[in-house]
Amino acid sequence: MSQPLVVGNWKMNGTVSQATRLAGTIVQGITQEKLNAALVLAPPATALAAVQERIAGSGISLAGQNCHWENNGAFTGEISPAMLSDLGCTYVIVGHSERRHIFNESDEIISRKLAAAIKNNLRPILCVGETLDQRNAGQTTEVIISQMQLALKELNGNVIANLEVAYEPVWAIGSGHNADSKQIAEVHVAIREYLTSSFDKASLRILYGGSVNPENANELGRITEVNGFLVGGASLKPETFLAIVRCFEQ
Ligand code: PEP
Repeated sequence: MSQPLVVGNWKMNGTVSQATRLAGTIVQGITQEKLNAALVLAPPATALAAVQERIAGSGISLAGQNCHWENNGAFTGEISPAMLSDLGCTYVIVGHSERRHIFNESDEIISRKLAAAIKNNLRPILCVGETLDQRNAGQTTEVIISQMQLALKELNGNVIANLEVAYEPVWAIGSGHNADSKQIAEVHVAIREYLTSSFDKASLRILYGGSVNPENANELGRITEVNGFLVGGASLKPETFLAIVRCFEQ
């Protein structure tokens, strides 16, 4: 399996100077280390340019938190994949549960965004995850595979080679309650089986996200099926983010 990936999603947090400081402390923290994991930072759009400047040469990659499906046009307030590339992004998060649930993004929209990101040479980090009601109703695998199928319906095996998948149970995001090892392994195995049978892509990374912190990262990082993390709250402090990153050292 390829190098583990740890993505810090800063969401709508931080001014440009705060984001630059955070990025700078993370860069300093890893300068003397040869890490096993590859790192990606997803600051707010307003701080992308400044963070890119700060991480240049460090090996850390930059991600947008969202993008539109068109490259330009009358879409007030939106950011296109071409604009993200232009700012130095190489990744973009697509289908985060906050986009799905707060901003009503449908599977159809997510599919268009995914295709647009890939067309613009961005690596999409496709987020999928079930709500608590869906889990309690025994629908977890069905929901996740349906989200995968709908998101990838326009794509073929060659282009999805550039995809990262993040399993993020909606109930685990920002709640302080992570999914347990068994729950995570079950879903990751189902995603892996789907990718292998539909696209012959057994090597894509599948990340876990949802209340990852320095206390649970060691255990969650040791699950064979987990190829990295998507981290929200704990990525806002350099010490907690780096402690999570270092769990892939052992
Ligand atoms: C996220 O927003 O993708 C996330 C996983 O958040 P948190 O780590 O805060 O649960």
